[in-house]
Amino acid sequence: MSYDDQVDVSKSDILVVDDAPDNLRILSAILTKRKFRVRKSLNGQSAIASARANPPDIILLDVRMPEVNGYEICKMLKASPETNYIPVIFISALDDIADKVKAFRSGGIDYITKPFQEAEVLVRVENQLRLQKLQRQLIQRNEELARSNQELEQFAYAISHDLQQPLQTMIGFARLIVLDHQISLNEITYEHLHEIIKAGDRAQQLIQDLLSYAQVKHQNQNFEPVDCNLMLVKVLDNLKMMISTKDAVIHTDSLPTIIGNESQLIQLFQNLIDNAIKFSHPDSSPQISISATNQTNEWLFAIHDNGIGIAAQYLESIFEIFQRVYTFEQYPGSGIGLAICKKIVELHGGRIWVESHPNTGTTFYFTLQN
Ligand code: ADP
Repeated sequence: MSYDDQVDVSKSDILVVDDAPDNLRILSAILTKRKFRVRKSLNGQSAIASARANPPDIILLDVRMPEVNGYEICKMLKASPETNYIPVIFISALDDIADKVKAFRSGGIDYITKPFQEAEVLVRVENQLRLQKLQRQLIQRNEELARSNQELEQFAYAISHDLQQPLQTMIGFARLIVLDHQISLNEITYEHLHEIIKAGDRAQQLIQDLLSYAQVKHQNQNFEPVDCNLMLVKVLDNLKMMISTKDAVIHTDSLPTIIGNESQLIQLFQNLIDNAIKFSHPDSSPQISISATNQTNEWLFAIHDNGIGIAAQYLESIFEIFQRVYTFEQYPGSGIGLAICKKIVELHGGRIWVESHPNTGTTFYFTLQN
């Protein structure tokens, strides 16, 4: 089935605007033969009033008209939110390039020339009507998708939240058994209980990470000036145990003040620095540098490490939720941190990407508006 068959544009409502009654009659005859509903207007003012009162699916607009010409009318239609989405096809007796360029510049999407060729008129009108209909369908589907994504996120949030309580109970009782019966338990039962507690702790961490992922958007977007130097002090304080255990050295440039949500920015920097330390090279202690460069309308931040690096085939997928390179036993984690970072950067109007050389190091780049 061709796309012409899938998109039915019959019965579309067409507004034809021309000061010559003969032209109106000819066009109306061509279009009504195809079962289009045709409305007629003899001047620009009445056309604008008619389009506002009842927006048509398309407007055919004569270029040359007394008082206000077609280009000006088109500009007025495009300037008003009630009519700016209605496609306009110009009707022109002239065939010179300048007129066509003017027609497109004033907001027209196509033109038909006088004297009218029936087949040409119909093809051009139907093409634009189909495009318009497909565009509307696309917008509607995008809205449906955004709605169902939101429902899914709320569902994931509710489920994760409700799972926490029973999980805590299970881990709690397993811990109690180990504590109360440590002496009488045989070695195998002790190990089994230990595995239950370990798996429970991991599930709990996963739930907490999932909750913070779902919460990123729900947090109200309190954007205010954030001094990144002060914000980083809080981040490094949160990570102080990890920094000292791994002997990590962090070099920091002077950072800017940007407009953002402080708690989300803390989460962003913390996830990236935490990873830079966690994925350090076994033969060298972590050396991490944090810098910011002023670009035209934004700051480019870079967090560079000398860790194990990431192979080229994973550079894009790691920003998706649950995507990891190593098993939990090799490097603990849930694969949610970078998905959270991406969400936060995008909520701040920026982009995030990574460059890496296996065994040499990794640099995460992100932009934040200033
Ligand atoms: P997690 O750290 O819980 O695994 P993330 O979403 O934060 O989840 O990271 C996804 C994956 O990206 C990690 O599992 C790791 O393989 C890779 N990765 C992230 N940061 C680095 C880094 N600085 N160096 C090397 N690999 C990294």
